[in-house]
Amino acid sequence: ANFMRVVVESAPAAVRDDRDDDARARAGVELLCVVKAVLKKIKRRVLVGDRVMVGAVDWVDGRGMIENVFERSSEVADPPVANVDHLLVLFSMDQPKVEAFTLTRFLVEAESAGMPLTLALNKAELVDDETRKAWKIKLRKWGYQPLFCSVETGNGLDSLAYILKGQTSVIVGPSGVGKSSLINALRSAQDISAVAYEDNWFTRVEGTRWCEDQRVGEVSSKSGRGKHTTRHVSLLPLTGGGYLADTPGFNQPSLLKVTKKTLPQMFPEIRKMLSESEPSKCAFNDCMHLGEPGCVVKADWERYPYYLQLFDEIKIREEFQ
Ligand code: GDP
Ligand code: ZN
Repeated sequence: ANFMRVVVESAPAAVRDDRDDDARARAGVELLCVVKAVLKKIKRRVLVGDRVMVGAVDWVDGRGMIENVFERSSEVADPPVANVDHLLVLFSMDQPKVEAFTLTRFLVEAESAGMPLTLALNKAELVDDETRKAWKIKLRKWGYQPLFCSVETGNGLDSLAYILKGQTSVIVGPSGVGKSSLINALRSAQDISAVAYEDNWFTRVEGTRWCEDQRVGEVSSKSGRGKHTTRHVSLLPLTGGGYLADTPGFNQPSLLKVTKKTLPQMFPEIRKMLSESEPSKCAFNDCMHLGEPGCVVKADWERYPYYLQLFDEIKIREEFQ
C-alpha cells in the first residue's frame, strides 16, 4: 500500500490522547495516511507538497486519513510535487565536471516547468578562479546568473538559504553533484508544524512511503527506506525557512513537457533575440528557427547546436507518439 507521510511538530493538547504518552512527548509525530476512497474516485491524486486535511487520527498507531486536498498553485510532473515555487538546478564544477549539453538538458527541463529557477554550481572549491570566471561568463551569455557554492567549505550556502527561504523548491541535477549533501547542510532538525482544527488536521504531505503490508506492526518496525519499488519524494523543511524536495532518482530530464513548438521558449537566448527584433517575430508564424526565410533567430550562439539536437530528439519522440 502507498501511504502519504504527514509530519507534525507535536500533537496539540486538543487532540492529544492520554493513552499515548510517547506521542505527546515526541516532536515530529509522523502519520502514515491513506487517502479517502471518495478522493480516489474523483481522481484527485494526492501529491507530495499538497495541502491536505487529515482526519481520523490514531495517535497510538500513527495513522490518519487524508480527507480533503486543497487546490494547488502549481505542479511539477517529474518528480511529482505540488505547490512548488522555485527550481534549484544543481551541478558541480568538478567530480563530475559540469558539461554544457547535459546542463542544457536540465535547464530546458527546468524552464518547461514555467517557474523561477536558480542555477547553482557546487564543489566550487575544486577549481581555480579562472575556471569559475570562464563558466560565469559563458552562463551569462546563455542568460543565467550562476551561484557558486561549496557544501565542503560552506561558501555560498548563506546565499542559497536566502534564495530558498519562504518557498518550496525542487532540487534537480545529475547524481554525484552534491544534492543530498546540500540538503543535509540546509535542512532543519525540526519538522513541520500543522494547524489543528477540531479533530481535523490541516497540513502538508511531506512524503510517500510504501509499505509491504497494511498491518501496523509491519509499518512501525520497518525503516520504510530501502524497500522502495518506486522513486520517492520527500519535502524537507530548511533551517532558514522554506522547503526543499529531496528527489532521489530523478536525475534524467525526460523533456516530456517540451514540444517542438515550445522548445524555442526554453532558451533565454532565443527569447532575447525575439524580443529585441522588430517586429518581435519571425516571418512565419510557425517558424522553428531552423534557417527559414525571415527568421530573426541567428545561428551564431553557443547553444544553437544543442537547440538543434534537442529539436531532433523531440521531433523523433513526437513522430512515435
Ligand atoms: P547527489 O548524488 O547529487 O545527492 O550527491 P551527494 O550529495 O551524494 O554527493 C556526492 C559526493 O560529493 C559525496 O562524496 C560528497 O561528499 C561530495 N561533495 C558534496 N559537496 C561537495 C563539495 O562542495 N565539494 C567537494 N569536494 N565534494 C562535495
Ligand atoms: Zn525563426
